[in-house]
Amino acid sequence: MLKLRLLLPVLGAFLAIGPLALPASADAADTEQIFRGILEVILADGEDGTSRTFYALHDGDARYPFHRSGALGEPLVGAGAELVSGVVVEVRGVLVREEIVLAAVDDDTDLLFPTSAVPQSLTESPLPAGATAAPELHSTLVILGDFTDVSLACTTTDVDAFMFTNPDSAAANYGEASFGQVAFEGDVVGPFAISYASTGASYLSWASALATEAQNAGYTLTDYLHIIYVLPPNGTGYTGLGTTGIGALGYGSAWIFRCDRPGLYAHETGHNFTMSHASRYFIDTAIVWTYGDQTCPMGSQLDVRHYNAPHKYKAGWIPEESVTTVTNDGLYLLHRLEDENASGVHVLRIANPEPHIGSSDMYWVSYRTGWGLDANLSATYQNKVFIHEASATPSTTYLRTWLDTGETFAEPAGSISPVQVQVIEQDGTVASVLVAGVSPPLDMPALPTPALWIVSLLLVLAGRYPAIWLWNSARSK
Ligand SMILES: [Zn+2]
Repeated sequence: MLKLRLLLPVLGAFLAIGPLALPASADAADTEQIFRGILEVILADGEDGTSRTFYALHDGDARYPFHRSGALGEPLVGAGAELVSGVVVEVRGVLVREEIVLAAVDDDTDLLFPTSAVPQSLTESPLPAGATAAPELHSTLVILGDFTDVSLACTTTDVDAFMFTNPDSAAANYGEASFGQVAFEGDVVGPFAISYASTGASYLSWASALATEAQNAGYTLTDYLHIIYVLPPNGTGYTGLGTTGIGALGYGSAWIFRCDRPGLYAHETGHNFTMSHASRYFIDTAIVWTYGDQTCPMGSQLDVRHYNAPHKYKAGWIPEESVTTVTNDGLYLLHRLEDENASGVHVLRIANPEPHIGSSDMYWVSYRTGWGLDANLSATYQNKVFIHEASATPSTTYLRTWLDTGETFAEPAGSISPVQVQVIEQDGTVASVLVAGVSPPLDMPALPTPALWIVSLLLVLAGRYPAIWLWNSARSK
């Protein structure tokens, strides 16, 4: 059954291992030591197209930011794993003015994970294909705020429409993209005036001030799974921020600084589902464009659209039986990713022998048509088969290319037996895709060469093997 893995395991683990160990004196503050607490990770989306990542440990009401020396905002990889909010971690470092500077200089091996820690996550256990159940309710409190010098351009009615009620709201997008497994509902309150100017960058203080106002107005924050703070553009240089997963506070947090973009609400709350960014990788120049995948709200932040295949899988919306990991060359049928019915294969995964970006060792193949809210995709992306590069447990995803009927993706370049994906045909619901270069060539029967070719050709003509098999077999000799 659909189930959220939520608060209790984490709190249990936290209580079992005790509170954050802080130095008892000023002298001790210079001493390298182990700190322990509930991890918070916040992804910040820059107006300039760059992303930053911020970390903190929570100990009750106290919050201790941490980072490597000279590397504030740079991502960490703790113990080889993706770091998400809600796990209990220990870090080794020095406390400097209530911030922890990590001892590790050029790697993250000093991030230690107690084995009892269980991440808090909004990732869901997917339903079996074709099964139906009541959607999981994501109650959300949206708090609007005005700075001393700038008022919000959107009304509560506007924000309610963008987040909850419009046909192309973030909530509508979650309902459709999750095949009905996620339902957002909630309250929009404010705007509340806070005693900060827009020229500042204290988004945590702004959140505290808005939270206090909402509590004074009778709202209990822990009644919600998501708290969204909506404020005018400001001195942070960000369009918004979001916590990856939910953390010590018991809810995922998001900040929206462009109040009229439904896609931004879907993006920042997407981080609460532990989705990272939908990037694009250009192989010719080895350049990564952080927000370069316009087929996913984790790349585009304007209008809503379905999340890309690896992110939908990461969120737990695609059942395992709808994902085929290809280990043999052949022809595969691929149902459109947007389909309202979760039966059939929606995603092909193919091992990537030469990952280009970190641990992105899988190609993810999916078919998008422009159905439903994917009408917001540009025509360029409609009725195409997409190749993404990501790990088997995706964090950041990388769009590589998209294929029309008859087009082929082949990699690595120059290989005598590259991984190949060719779109054979499509009808707006299903695409047939030929995959080659995955399985080793079949052993050919020990026949004289002319007879071998005749037998091979007959097998192909009889439909026993795709033509690409004959081609691969011939080249392997
Ligand atoms: Zn982001």
